[in-house]
Amino acid sequence: MQRCRSAFGSITVEATILLLEHDAKMLLGARGLTVPEGVLAAADTMPEPTGDGPWVVKAQVPVGGRGKAGGVCVVQDRAGLQEAADAICALTIKGFPVRELRIEEAVPDATELYVGLVLDPATAEVVVMASAEGGVEIEAQAETAIHRRWARPDEASLTAALAEVAGALPPNAARAVTEAGARIVAAWLDLDATLIELNPLFLRADGSWIAGDVRMDVDEGALPRQPGLTALLDDRAAAYPEAIFKRDNGFDLVVVDPEGEIGLVTTGAGLSMQLIDEMTARGLKPYNFCDIRSGGMRGDPARLVENIRRVLEGPNLKCILVNIFAGITELGEFAGLLLKALDELGEVPVPLVVRLVGNGQDRADAILRASGRGLILERDLDRAISLCAAPEVADA
Ligand code: GDP
Ligand code: MN
Repeated sequence: MQRCRSAFGSITVEATILLLEHDAKMLLGARGLTVPEGVLAAADTMPEPTGDGPWVVKAQVPVGGRGKAGGVCVVQDRAGLQEAADAICALTIKGFPVRELRIEEAVPDATELYVGLVLDPATAEVVVMASAEGGVEIEAQAETAIHRRWARPDEASLTAALAEVAGALPPNAARAVTEAGARIVAAWLDLDATLIELNPLFLRADGSWIAGDVRMDVDEGALPRQPGLTALLDDRAAAYPEAIFKRDNGFDLVVVDPEGEIGLVTTGAGLSMQLIDEMTARGLKPYNFCDIRSGGMRGDPARLVENIRRVLEGPNLKCILVNIFAGITELGEFAGLLLKALDELGEVPVPLVVRLVGNGQDRADAILRASGRGLILERDLDRAISLCAAPEVADA
């Protein structure tokens, strides 16, 4: 699924895993980045915190802006910990209910810097950024306060860019950005990251630094060559259901609206997003995002079975739209797999609108018609969407 979460927005990267702060800190902490000592917690399972306080209690959701949403809270004593945990766990931040917390030792009296590496998909280069004015207002900073250089994704180029952006900062900030930046450059290259941001990177009066917040996204396509990340996902499976689902099933399905009415069986991440936008603009309620990757099904209906089974879990589901625009996929073969999947599923309690366009479309429609399953076939996208709004009129 395409997502975006740099502090500066506007970057979309396909197939990326948004790590939670706790996991990013564990990963980078093990690679020499100094981070506050901390533990993972939930409202009903509060482990012994490290240190004597004060602590900071932090919502673990894969989006920025937690501070402004009330998801980050500094507390002075143990009594305050549970209270803060209860309050934060009651929040939903940008659509993500808070299920986990990180409780860590607070960093008092420090300046907030920013250093980040963000993939620029337009150029396949890395934007290396630093600022002496980090923190929650980073987006509002004057352009001149943020120093940027574009680098190739190799150590020499990244290190040179980092030295240039650090060189624009006051001496203590420059040293902190250089040292912390070197760790994130190494981690970027080792772990196939697409984004790493330290914001704030705390700078103390004595010149020492510690990463107050870490955001890290990694390339999902790199998982097969990243045993460390694979182990992390397995350990923390409940925290990364979407990534685990995609890895284990070979396709992507994300519920975008649990109350949604139209289940989608679609291929192509971009096309699926467009379809969701189009439906929403027309007042319809799509249930899920989907990228079935029809090109990789290899004669096996398992993905279709799993896809349809998942969307049927939607309590308000009224209709399923199968929308495949085929380049490589032979649609006759796809139609055969769809019928096999429906056989395997038995009774499907909602109508299916099927739009198959491209290579082998006529053969596909003939196969589906001959099945006698009452599938609603429509090649025109507009009309197919209208049929999803009122599938019962299809026979008229
Ligand atoms: P974000 O809003 O999701 O980026 O969450 P952050 O972890 O960056 O926290 C937001 C803000 O909370 C930071 O910019 C700090 O101002 C404040 N904050 C977070 N941790 C600490 C801490 O240990 N000590 C202090 N004094 N402030 C903190
Ligand atoms: Mn932050």
